[in-house]
Amino acid sequence: MPSEFELIRRYFTHRARHAVLGVGDDAALVNVRRGCELVVSTDMLLAGRHFLRDADPAQLGHKALAVNLSDLAAMGAFPRWATLALALPRADTRWLAAFSRGFMTLARRFDVDLIGGDTTRGPLNICVQIMGEVPRGTALLRSGARAGDDIWVSGVLGDAALALAALKRRIRLRPAELARCAAKLHRPQPRIALGLALRGVAHSAIDISDGLLADLEHILERSAVAAEIELVALPASSILRRYLDRVAACSALLAGGDDYELCFTASRQARERIARIGQRARIALTRIGRIHAPARGTPRLVVRAADGTALRPVRGGYDHFL
Ligand code: ADP
Ligand code: MG
Repeated sequence: MPSEFELIRRYFTHRARHAVLGVGDDAALVNVRRGCELVVSTDMLLAGRHFLRDADPAQLGHKALAVNLSDLAAMGAFPRWATLALALPRADTRWLAAFSRGFMTLARRFDVDLIGGDTTRGPLNICVQIMGEVPRGTALLRSGARAGDDIWVSGVLGDAALALAALKRRIRLRPAELARCAAKLHRPQPRIALGLALRGVAHSAIDISDGLLADLEHILERSAVAAEIELVALPASSILRRYLDRVAACSALLAGGDDYELCFTASRQARERIARIGQRARIALTRIGRIHAPARGTPRLVVRAADGTALRPVRGGYDHFL
């Protein structure tokens, strides 16, 4: 049985490119570039809550880092460093090899150094801290939305939640459909390039981890504004569209989690610029609604159906639209 130190040496010690000192001492040392702010975020993944206990370890390694990178994407930051705190029920070297491969493959793709962490025995728990840099004063915040802004989202929404609904047998998908949606659930792609390109263009941004409605609400709350979005404008995959008459699919689109796309707001005048940013980043960017000034007595966020009526959430999801 390898010791804790041997496990760290074997699976988590890699050359650090952007650090003065990486894994191996009591702490790591990094230099933040002149004129930049340090951007820091942490996300924890718990077995049984965020993933199934028998989840594929390489996919878990990918996802644990991807969800953290997604937070930096939403800030418009360059990712640089990560730490990894792991609780493991036992020293399963096959699991560790696959997990660290999934983690490090994504880390290398985004040029992120793993500079430290902690390894301990316990119920499986994965906690990643990500650190990045952003030129002073340029980070994208939740609090910058203004009345008159367009609301945009990247990619398509709801496939990950649709896969989860199928895995929980709340909806039946064909095997090929489930495979495509499950890839979105297990291997989210952080929108780093998009976040960087949106600095100086978007007024506010957030990554969609808890579902479009919940995450857009955070922008509205922090910016003290209101919004209307149109259901028919929401970007959905051809698979999700096929099931849109079902509550589970509609809920996945509006309120499903795990998409890790970006939702952002920008002025009308920025439309052409944003279209070019989408082309360059090779990602669909879709306008889904409008920010307006809050009005007493009206809901902060209204979703309109094709016929103009406002949709109402129902127990367990969203119903009776379409
Ligand atoms: P200490 O007990 O002083 O905290 P550790 O034995 O926990 O030291 O860690 C030794 C070194 O290995 C430290 O540099 C620490 O950051 C690093 N480390 C431990 N676990 C991990 C991990 N899962 N991933 C990356 N680095 C790790
Ligand atoms: Mg330690």
